[in-house]
Amino acid sequence: MNKKTINSEVMIIGGGVTGLAAAISLDALGIDSTIIEKDSVLGGKVKEYSKVFPDFRSGKNIVRELIAKVEQSSRIRPVVSASVTSAERIDGTYSVHVSDNNRYNVKAIILACGFEVFDARLQEEYGYGVYPNVVNSLDLEALLDAQEKKGGMLLRPSDGKPVTRMAIIFCVGSRSKRLGNPYCSRICCSYSTKQAIEIMEKNPDASVTCFYMDIRTYDRGFEEMYQYAQELGVKYIRGRVSECSALPDGDIQVRAENTLLGRPVQGIFNLISLSVGMMPCADAADLAGLLGIERSDDGFFTKKDKYFSPHDTVREGIFLAGSLTGLKPIKDCLMEGNSVSSRVTAYLNEHK
Ligand code: SF4
Repeated sequence: MNKKTINSEVMIIGGGVTGLAAAISLDALGIDSTIIEKDSVLGGKVKEYSKVFPDFRSGKNIVRELIAKVEQSSRIRPVVSASVTSAERIDGTYSVHVSDNNRYNVKAIILACGFEVFDARLQEEYGYGVYPNVVNSLDLEALLDAQEKKGGMLLRPSDGKPVTRMAIIFCVGSRSKRLGNPYCSRICCSYSTKQAIEIMEKNPDASVTCFYMDIRTYDRGFEEMYQYAQELGVKYIRGRVSECSALPDGDIQVRAENTLLGRPVQGIFNLISLSVGMMPCADAADLAGLLGIERSDDGFFTKKDKYFSPHDTVREGIFLAGSLTGLKPIKDCLMEGNSVSSRVTAYLNEHK
């Protein structure tokens, strides 16, 4: 393929909801942008969400709406299945080489590479990847989506049996120094509670038990959602699960310690969902090296000044937005997509 040089005012690395929102806001301000997305389609993780919290809107529809706006714009160039291979700044312009074999000359770069979910196989005691009826929260989202389309009850993967006894284990891969993720992922208490509500609303005779360390439902509407879940009958047990083991019929036995009562508990469930935490995007270290920007010990990217320059990095012309500086709900990612575009516009005006 012949190498081309493409001039664009802004490059956005990451075509999830934050990157799409940034491109759409820049478009409204008359600024053209190129989105570089490593996946073969735009939309990031949100395109996999059946519903989002706390208002149960369709994640897929949020993504569809954003992509429709991108497609209507003549100023936004999406490039999928592509990644940045090098970037150098010459006379105020970044010359960025991309795996599509083209070189892009841009004035500013917005990094919006998002997050990865924790690989639950690393917590071997839960049997993820070994027992088909132990799934993670994204798998559960896909099962809920299939249920929504077909109607009827949630069915488990191993044999299609309706799920009447469900357990959700919180804090998988978060708040653990042993696993190298000491931080709270902030949104898993809420998304798991949203999933518990969906199951109970579809099947009021089902039981859903949540094993939690602490409940952190901190944002507007989140606590109310947690209270509603309890009104529906979702059980919350403060306890650490020590082991999941499969029974011959595919059910899963859970052993835990109820840390409020200080005594062991156990139960048998049709399906277990692991409420996995999140980490910075898989290529965070490579991107930080390529772009010459900083990350903290927890792997998330560092803002120049979190109070006064929340989108700036230590390098002029490179900006951050979305979950790569710390996990946040979808509406906050969309807001950051909008606010980074204002910051970049001001930067471009200063550097004409
Ligand atoms: Fe654990 Fe809840 Fe924090 Fe997620 S948000 S890490 S489930 S306390």
